[in-house]
Amino acid sequence: MTQKKKLIVGNWKMNGSLQFNAQLLQALCDGMGQPDCAVAVAVPAPYLAQVQSLVAGGAIALAAQDVSQHEAGAFTGEVSAGMLRDFGTRYVLVGHSERRQYHGETDAGVAAKAQRALAAGITPIVCVGETLAEREAGQTQAVVKRQLAAVIHANGHCISEIVVAYEPVWAIGTGRTATPEQAQEVHAVLRAQLAAATEHADRVPLLYGGSMNAANAAQLLTQQDIDGGLVGGASLKAADFSQIIAAASANQASAATK
Ligand code: PEP
Repeated sequence: MTQKKKLIVGNWKMNGSLQFNAQLLQALCDGMGQPDCAVAVAVPAPYLAQVQSLVAGGAIALAAQDVSQHEAGAFTGEVSAGMLRDFGTRYVLVGHSERRQYHGETDAGVAAKAQRALAAGITPIVCVGETLAEREAGQTQAVVKRQLAAVIHANGHCISEIVVAYEPVWAIGTGRTATPEQAQEVHAVLRAQLAAATEHADRVPLLYGGSMNAANAAQLLTQQDIDGGLVGGASLKAADFSQIIAAASANQASAATK
């Protein structure tokens, strides 16, 4: 079986400015060279046009951080999948825990967003993950399975076209990372759930997210079912993000020689 390329996605969250973005992307392009993995940056909506033109023809793909579950109409403040497509958006995050937590996004709403993205030809990166209280109550697997089940239910026919990001909420922006074993355990559960829904479950990249950084990326990325990373804080520092990309590329190269 050919080894699929790892995917490293930076999530800038609500950070950046015209000047900062240009400097970051320049430093990133200089730092990462020609990576042997796929790379994307999820940028705030107002910067889609700027970043589209800055990354054109290069190795970095454009991603958005959210999409409306509606196609068009009276939804003030929302951005549709068609609008994202107009700017060459390749991926969009759906159901990030900050959206679930601060904007009341439900499993059904996240599933509808994934559906809109897929219909527009944009790959949804479906974020799932448990809170610390849920982990401590032994509910981790039940929570992530429930979150993914909603997306499978609404998108069964093209479920192999999505990306899934396992992001334990307690690890996001906290500096506390899941151990490679903890992450792999959940990824194996998600892979099995996808395998029950599609014969192409191996095609679905499963990303780990939650305080991934230059120091821990290599170890996480060696796990069997960890196909890449969703990186918040460290994606705002070109040197750190470049090192994560290098770790993914090195992992790719060593897998190819096995
Ligand atoms: C994220 O925002 O998806 C994330 C994983 O953030 P951080 O890497 O900062 O924990």
